[in-house]
Amino acid sequence: MDADVIVAGAGPTGLMLAGELALAGLDVAIVERRPGQDLAGLRAGGLHSRTLEIFDQRGIVDRFLAEGQIAQVASFAGATLDIRDFPTRHNYGLGLWQKHIERILASWVEQLGVPIHRQREVTGFVQDDAGVDIELREGRSLRAKYLVGCDGGRSVVRKAAGIEFPGWDATTSNLIAEVEMTQEPPLGIHRDAYGIHSFGKAKYEIRDGAVVYGKGGPIGVMVTEQRVGSATEPTLRELSEALIAVCGTDYGMHSPTFISRFTDTTRQAAAYRKGRVLIAGDAAHVHAPDGGQGLNIGIQDAVNLGWKLAQVVKATSPARLLDTYHSERHPVGARVLRTTMAAVALRRADDRTKALRDIMSELLGMDGPRKRFAAMMSGLDIHYDLGQRHPLVGRRMPDLDLITSRGPQRVFSLLHRARPVLLNLGEPGGLDITAWTDRVQLIDAKYDGAWELPVLGEVSAPSAVLIRPDGYVAWVDAGDSRSLLEALATWFGEANAA
Ligand SMILES: Cc1cc2nc3c(=O)[nH]c(=O)nc-3n(C[C@H](O)[C@H](O)[C@H](O)COP(=O)(O)OP(=O)(O)OC[C@H]3O[C@@H](n4cnc5c(N)ncnc54)[C@H](O)[C@@H]3O)c2cc1C
Repeated sequence: MDADVIVAGAGPTGLMLAGELALAGLDVAIVERRPGQDLAGLRAGGLHSRTLEIFDQRGIVDRFLAEGQIAQVASFAGATLDIRDFPTRHNYGLGLWQKHIERILASWVEQLGVPIHRQREVTGFVQDDAGVDIELREGRSLRAKYLVGCDGGRSVVRKAAGIEFPGWDATTSNLIAEVEMTQEPPLGIHRDAYGIHSFGKAKYEIRDGAVVYGKGGPIGVMVTEQRVGSATEPTLRELSEALIAVCGTDYGMHSPTFISRFTDTTRQAAAYRKGRVLIAGDAAHVHAPDGGQGLNIGIQDAVNLGWKLAQVVKATSPARLLDTYHSERHPVGARVLRTTMAAVALRRADDRTKALRDIMSELLGMDGPRKRFAAMMSGLDIHYDLGQRHPLVGRRMPDLDLITSRGPQRVFSLLHRARPVLLNLGEPGGLDITAWTDRVQLIDAKYDGAWELPVLGEVSAPSAVLIRPDGYVAWVDAGDSRSLLEALATWFGEANAA
């Protein structure tokens, strides 16, 4: 074996997954086509609250906060959804370009000792009962116990696995570019009879909730095309024509740094796993960028998969644990596809759609709808159906301020090493998990505050909570110790022999 797991692609999803696997003690390597982490184009513009929480769970959120702009970024169909009153430490999003997100993740992964084999392209694979042979364009093949395709929307891994990718073809396309302009365009977002367009700059600050651009520098352009553009690389001439059609001028643009096209093509993989091969991020789902969801759910796919795959590789858990990756994450992806398709429909420029958008804005101005949509767009409302009735089960564990024998501690700090936690908030020493102590941390703690979840509000305080490494609650105490043993075995493998 060249590694326990080979991850194809060092985009945000692949980097996060590699970090998770390394934290779990696996021998993991990334194979990446690009020569470095530099990214052509701006792509994602930021992080939602739940992704910030996930980075906080791993102790790396400050690296992102130090470079980004805190802002209310959750939105739907043009309506901003304020989450300042949400029960989370990160009751905001972060404006930060994807190239910086990737750079920060890459340095974390490097710190964890994960090798990234750059300028290596996966072209296919052959799997057998014991592993996967991964073919590289450069000739050599690699062997690993598992292969994860985090290789983007055109995923070679997904195609080679024969996983279907059903969905909807593009109905609209936009050109995005960074160019020099001899005339100053009207900075900001504009809607007109042709669609949605914007002019901005890569460097900006957020002051009192408003975007303030720096002086000079290249201009970022986004313009709706009159017809869905072809799959070929867009040219400066196409960009100029699209701008002239919409604005009557191309503002004397020249010297592009990049020009690319995005569409509202919407597709999702029918299966996230085929034997020893899994897919995550854009390889598993593509959709329009409305609402800024793609990178965020890719990172969240990775955090759902990482600990499960690590346990299967270490033979702590049976391979069927990996099926919960599909059953938990496929519905989350499907919901994002639905939301983005609705957002694209609401982007249309005709008067009737504008009336519908206005009505949506009015509805989202009401407290109940705002909270529901804000929790959905920020990823804070995710609920995996894990069976038990208590509202915490299957939901994100709140980052409570605990008092432990080691002094005050935040719940998220207990998750830094990506190990499961059994939090005993009842009688100290009242829970015995001797048969799992090599895998699960048992923490006796006190917490006297309220238990509040986004949208649901206050929930009854449990006396014990079992938290998975991804920060989701697997079990709460319902006064029955048998169910704890079952939950421990289900999620973290059978008990060690006495
Ligand atoms: C205009 C635009 C705006 C967006 N805005 C947002 C936003 O605001 N918020 C948000 O969350 N998302 C946004 N997105 C989506 C976001 O960019 C993607 O969802 C995200 O990049 C997906 O990450 P990934 O790691 O899954 O895939 P990718 O970023 O596509 O990474 C895949 C990696 O795999 C490598 N690779 C591909 N094939 C191979 C191969 N065969 N062998 C080896 N390596 C390979 C690639 O070089 C790349 O590094 C936007 C996208 C666009 C286009």
